[in-house]
Amino acid sequence: MKLWIGCIFMLSAILGGAANVSKTLSQEEKPLVIILMGPPGAGKGTQAKPLSDELEIPHISTGDLFRKQIREQTPLGKTAKIYIDAGKYVPDELVFDMLFTRLSEPDCKKGYILDGFPRNITQARILDKKLDARIKVIYLHVPDSALIERITGRLSCKSCGKTYHTKNNPPKKSLTCDSCSSSLYQREDDKETVLKKRLEEYHTQTSPLLSYYKEKGVLSEVDATNSQETVLHLVLETLQVPARSV
Ligand code: AMP
Repeated sequence: MKLWIGCIFMLSAILGGAANVSKTLSQEEKPLVIILMGPPGAGKGTQAKPLSDELEIPHISTGDLFRKQIREQTPLGKTAKIYIDAGKYVPDELVFDMLFTRLSEPDCKKGYILDGFPRNITQARILDKKLDARIKVIYLHVPDSALIERITGRLSCKSCGKTYHTKNNPPKKSLTCDSCSSSLYQREDDKETVLKKRLEEYHTQTSPLLSYYKEKGVLSEVDATNSQETVLHLVLETLQVPARSV
């Protein structure tokens, strides 16, 4: 009798163990995290929107999260604005709480598209520690010479954040958003002097991330000088993720 009870205990321990093992997520079950990398003006935000629709995962932009804090005049927004208007990166500790609070919301469970994060090695390491996900990094490559014209002509919507370009993609009605009819403005940090500082920050702090992700084997490069549609097509092809099936 004792032997039987012992056997039953052992069996249930083994099965319990197996159940625990099966709780570990398989590669396919893990959330899909797409990191869009590239200098300011490479089209990260522009690509993130249709990608988010295609893949049905949210677009999380740290720049947008900061701009929301600035609009709401929160203490974080007021501090961040000083750095942003000077073309500098906001200190890491101010980014983490804001971002990870957003990522803990239910719509991020299946995955998300990160735009503007990570921006340096410390941020990338913290993200690696926090995540158990399928990470794919897409580097949108545009030479610096093309960026100045793209950014200094950019107009952004005050409400929905949609972007336009004075020459290449003007709104139907002057300074008015086609989608929500709010007014368009030029971001302070899109002015040429500030943009030059942002590019410096990008080249010194963010570019090294390309080798970081290359060594991990998760980096793909896309030529982002093509039209928006072509770039989206190339990105989807690179991701090898059938649309609407993540
Ligand atoms: P973006 O809209 O991505 O160009 O971001 C606008 C500005 O917000 C940047 O120039 C930085 O000052 C700040 N910012 C956004 N994301 C980060 C980040 N991950 N780390 C530090 N600063 C950031």
